[in-house]
Parts: sequence; C-alpha cells; structure tokens
Amino acid sequence: MIVFAPRETDPRETRAPLTPDTAKKLVELGFTVRVESGTGARCDHPDPQYREAGAEVVNDRAAASGEADFVLRVRRPEEGEIAGLKRGAVHISFLDPFNEPATLAAMAAAGVTAVSLEMIPRTTLAQKMDALSSQANIAGYTAVTYAADRLNKILPMMMTPAGTISPAKFFVIGIGVAGLQAIATAKRLGARVTAFDVRPEALEQAESLGAKALRIDLGGDTGGTDQGYAKELTPEQLEKQRQAQAKVCADSDVVITTAKVFGRKSPVLVKADAVAGMKAGSLIVDLAAESGGNVEGTVLDEEVVTEGGACIVGLSNFEGRAATHSSQVYSANLGNFLEHFWDKEGGAFKLDLEDEILKGCVLTHGGEIVHERFKGGG
Ligand code: NAD
Repeated sequence: MIVFAPRETDPRETRAPLTPDTAKKLVELGFTVRVESGTGARCDHPDPQYREAGAEVVNDRAAASGEADFVLRVRRPEEGEIAGLKRGAVHISFLDPFNEPATLAAMAAAGVTAVSLEMIPRTTLAQKMDALSSQANIAGYTAVTYAADRLNKILPMMMTPAGTISPAKFFVIGIGVAGLQAIATAKRLGARVTAFDVRPEALEQAESLGAKALRIDLGGDTGGTDQGYAKELTPEQLEKQRQAQAKVCADSDVVITTAKVFGRKSPVLVKADAVAGMKAGSLIVDLAAESGGNVEGTVLDEEVVTEGGACIVGLSNFEGRAATHSSQVYSANLGNFLEHFWDKEGGAFKLDLEDEILKGCVLTHGGEIVHERFKGGG
C-alpha cells in the first residue's frame, strides 16, 4: 500500500501533511511512503530527513498521485488534480466541505474515498486524529505571540524606578480550543485577560486559567451541541452580546476573536462602532477570518488600520506561523488515523463505513457522496 504526500501548493501554506517522524511510523507499519520533493521545506524538514526515515522522495507529483492508495494533504486539492487520483484511493485532508461542494462532486466522480478532517467526530476515541483541535491550539498560541510582537507595549506589569507599567489587556472572544490556548499564552506573558463565550462551561474553563469571564445574560438556550460546538444565536442575542462586548473592546489593547459555529459562516461579533471605539495602537486578531470573520472590516489576508488607529488583523493560517510544530501534530493526527484503521496482520485498511469515526468523516466513496449531510449538494 502506497502513501503519498504531495507538496502543498498554496503559497500561504507552510505546513507539511507528513513529517519524517510520521513517515517512519508508517514505514514501520508496512506502508510504502512517498513524499514530493520539497514537502517539508517550509517546516524545517528537508528531503534527506524523509529518506532517512525510509520514505522515497519523488519529483513526479502526477505519477505518484495516480499510484497512491492514500494521499495525505493539508488543504483540499485543486480540482484539476482530483481526476488524476487512483480510483479507490483514500484522500485525507481538510476539505472545507460546507463551502466547496465542487470538490466533493469531483472526488465522488473520481471514485475516491474522501476523508474530511473537519468532520472527524469530537469523541474521546477520535481525539488523537482531531486535526481541528491540534491546529487551533497552535493558532491560539501564535495569535498571542504575533500580537505581543506587534503591540507597542509590553505585556506584563512592571514596577520600575521610572514608574509602574500596567499590564496589557487582552479580550478573547470564543473560548474553544484556540481561545483557551490564547488565554493561557497571554496569561503566561503577564497580560490581564477577559474572555467571553456563549457556552457557560467555557467561561468556567477561562476562569480556571486566570482570566476574568465576561458574563452576559443573553436569555434562551446558549449551550453547546452534543459535539461541544456552539449553537447559532438569534439576531437579538447577538445584538445583546455586541453591546456588552463593545465596552471591553474599548478598554483592551488586544482583542482576539475565535468564535465559530460549525458548518456556518462565523458570526460577526465586533461591529464597526466597537472597532471605532478602540484605542490607537490596539489590535484585533480575527482568527475566524478564513470562515468569514468575527469582525466587521476584516479583510482576509490583510491588516486594516482604522481611522482611530486600531488595526484589524485578518491574516490566515496562524497555525502555519509555527509550521514545525503544527506539522508535527497534524501529521501525527493523520498517522494515528491510518494506524487506527490499519489491519497490520492482513495488510489492509479497514474501511467500514458503519464505524462511528468513518461514518462521520468519509464524505465520498465508491463514486458517490455518501455522507448524509452532503448528499444532494450539502
Ligand atoms: P469552534 O472552533 O467551533 O468555535 C470556537 C469557539 O467559539 C467555541 O468555544 C464556541 O462556543 C465559540 N462561539 C460560537 N459562537 C459564539 C459567539 N456568538 N460568541 C462567543 N463565542 C462563540 O470550537 P472548538 O474550539 O473547535 O471547540 C468547541 C468545543 O469542543 C470546546 O468545548 C472543546 O473543548 C470541545 N472539544 C471536544 C473534543 C473532544 O471531546 N474530543 C475535541 C475538541 C474540542
């Protein structure tokens, strides 16, 4: 069985889907492992490291794609490449399935079994394969270090003979995996942190990390789904939230927004008036920029300085700012996925579509879209 990891083609992408460590693990499991030359170049893994791990480094991407039984990527493939995959191959990557129905249709037409990492169930058993979490964790960290670097202030309180420097104030909106890591990182650097989430248990988690929880009575049910995701708020609830948050934004040096609603565009939580109320030199890092943005005025992959001198950071791929570590854990997620379903004795992949994990994340198989949520175009 051949596993192939092509080099990521998106110029913004620094991560590799396969690291030498995971390549070694797959070789030991009995796979033939191939990587395209340059796959790890942007995350500190030059080609020789893959050869040392027992993988083949190839230059002919199209030929290797056509021969592989498993193709590992970070981002979804370009449509032109899908037809070149082997019928029956298993393709594992983020697929952005709610926004990219054409990719799913092409995967089905090519007879490929497409695994969407976004759809891996949030269960204890699947935690080791949960790439959304492994990447969000790194993004939460790098959002804070980026802001710390950009701010014209230091983060901790300092009492000096020349006077006292007050700690920087951070406001984290959305306390999921990324938000919790952002809180922990900002606290470690000495900032004062306030945080808000619609899920009450998330507020308690923020408090346990030393943040101040902003409590807003939104009325109605604001709990999570059985997968731990937030439910969508009503327009009235969103308006209440925005008003309560605006005061905290005005008082903050850095606002980090991470709020997402699974399968939907991210809610706009910081409107233009709240941005206008922020101090000169303050920053808003919108980690939801790729899924529409939590901030009015966010421009994907750009930084926008407002008239008042605040800056909205809409850069994507914050996880890719620590590409060595985000690749390490991403690749480990994929390796764990393959290992979990690999029958070592029989040398075969156990593709049981009734399995709880596969049922959640296999979107196309045998020439069709098989996932209930995406049949008929999503
Ligand atoms: P996410 O990326 O979907 O969303 C980020 C955060 O935004 C969430 O905490 C969500 O509640 C919040 N949010 C949504 N709408 C909001 C609004 N209007 N205002 C403020 N915040 C809003 O979520 P995530 O980080 O992927 O994780 C969500 C939950 O799932 C977490 O509790 C996490 O611990 C849990 N989880 C469980 C497992 C597991 O059991 N295996 C694995 C991963 C995550």
